[in-house]
Amino acid sequence: MSRWRDTTCGTLRADDVGRRLTVAGWADTRRDHGGLVFVDLRDHTGKLQLVVNPERAPEAAAAAHHVRNEFVLQAEGEVVRRAPEAVNPNLPTGEVELRVETLRIVSRSEPLPFQLDEEGVDETLRLRYRWLDMRTERMQRNLRLNHTAIAALRRVMDERGFVDVWTPSMTRGTPEGARDFLVPVRLQPGRFFALAQSPQLFKQLCMIGGLDRYYQIATCWRDEDLRADRQFEFRQLDLEMAFVERDDVLDVLEACVAATFEAAGREPPARPFPRLSYAEAMLRYGSDKPDLRFGLEIEDATEVTRGSEFGVFAGAPVVRYLVAPRAFSRTELARLEEIAKEWGAKGLAYLVGDDSGEVRSPIAKFLSERELEALRPEPGTTLLFAAGDEETVARVLGGLRTHLGRELGLVEAGADVFHWVLDFPLFEHSEEYGGWTFMHHPFTAPAAGEEERIATDPPHAIGQHYDLIWNGWELGSGSIRIHSAEVQQAVFRTMGMGEEEQRSKFGFLLEALSMGAPPHGGFALGFDRFIALLAGEPDIRQVIAFPKVSSGSDPLTGAPTPYPDEALRELGIRLAGPEPAKG
Ligand code: ASP
Repeated sequence: MSRWRDTTCGTLRADDVGRRLTVAGWADTRRDHGGLVFVDLRDHTGKLQLVVNPERAPEAAAAAHHVRNEFVLQAEGEVVRRAPEAVNPNLPTGEVELRVETLRIVSRSEPLPFQLDEEGVDETLRLRYRWLDMRTERMQRNLRLNHTAIAALRRVMDERGFVDVWTPSMTRGTPEGARDFLVPVRLQPGRFFALAQSPQLFKQLCMIGGLDRYYQIATCWRDEDLRADRQFEFRQLDLEMAFVERDDVLDVLEACVAATFEAAGREPPARPFPRLSYAEAMLRYGSDKPDLRFGLEIEDATEVTRGSEFGVFAGAPVVRYLVAPRAFSRTELARLEEIAKEWGAKGLAYLVGDDSGEVRSPIAKFLSERELEALRPEPGTTLLFAAGDEETVARVLGGLRTHLGRELGLVEAGADVFHWVLDFPLFEHSEEYGGWTFMHHPFTAPAAGEEERIATDPPHAIGQHYDLIWNGWELGSGSIRIHSAEVQQAVFRTMGMGEEEQRSKFGFLLEALSMGAPPHGGFALGFDRFIALLAGEPDIRQVIAFPKVSSGSDPLTGAPTPYPDEALRELGIRLAGPEPAKG
């Protein structure tokens, strides 16, 4: 194989007995058995037991005494069968061992900050010493799964005629709803590039440029707070297709998911994936990315409570509720109320159906016979109500539903549900400037027949946007795009952008749209989220080689760091505040 090794550690089997081989790797453990020294030698393929006998190989034995965990070793010897009582059925190489003749310490290791098999190591410490963490089975598996998935996706893309096009990272701000990371330009002080939040407009230009099918494993940068499913920089399988309709795009994505599952050795989910409109998702689950591994659907009590003596119900535009399969205690209800408040509720009304059949509730006395008749909880259940405007009610009950799904263990272990959410509104109200803003990005085409509404009735204009959800995680988004400059301008106008601003920010797009733009649409699959879910990891940091921690720092390199004044001056930058603290 090379001058360092003839084979890898994890591949030797009983068939190899009698071969003389050189192997190399890390000392995983060393055991001194009064004379014989055993070393488990580890590489990316697994472990192999080395046995050093001081009588047969005195020099190797002398070296073996100096070996410590994570030393890099090279050993040469004969593959021998283990004595029957020494066979380790848990190790693929457990039937054999290498009887070492020469042993060389190739590289030493300082005492380690943590042991590779230690449980509960602080994550920042793991990231600080990521090169050690990477040697663990977990990280090896996760990083290799990244590769397996990317290879599978590239195969699907290639088979379907997609062309890998590299687009710039340094560009103009791309409106994806986050803040831009800015890059100062030494040659043009005072001017900045933005790091691409996505290749959105470039991929559309590729369609206008006649490429027909574009894709890229694209790095995107978004200045947002870091969370379990968010890093400043992340990867997307970004794609775009010309002369297609929505279902053509969905079909490609479903094929991508299936191919990845197969490559990872898992049964792919049944296709086509179920579809839900945005309106239905919000009404039934209170979320545009509901976890459909469990039911717990939102029910409506608006009509029943119209003339209620309970004023909170009577005066609310909508009254809706969840039926939780449990008679909650007061303490539990107080906790649920806190959660409801976090989601924007003023309080939490409830009706508890005691196991004895009694109804427990401070509001029961205000409810009429008719209301109680319709809303009487089954024994062992609790009705949890939200009253208010449609949006708040959905948010509150959606939040409670997700919480209860987890808390009450409603999610069936091992279940996987992929589904689409379709027909999103084009616009939403902007808290920031009080007008209308895009819901995803401003390039989504209106649904057929909805064009007029862009100007006349923006809140009700439906767009051809779709999201892919896996077990309540949004895996990605896409849409059929606007391919006419006039429609694009109508959207910009509704967002409050005057002619001049449109031209200065998006002049190139408007020009391109007016020079023969084919109908087109696409998608971006959040690759890191997808891999985290595929790997069964709770957050994307576990599948990214060198992620940042939630403060936005990289514990390994110490970035971000301050820069000396001269360097900043060259860029035309003067810091406003005191020097940021080092560390
Ligand atoms: N550019 C969008 C995003 O990054 C995806 C798309 O519409 O294709 O979310």
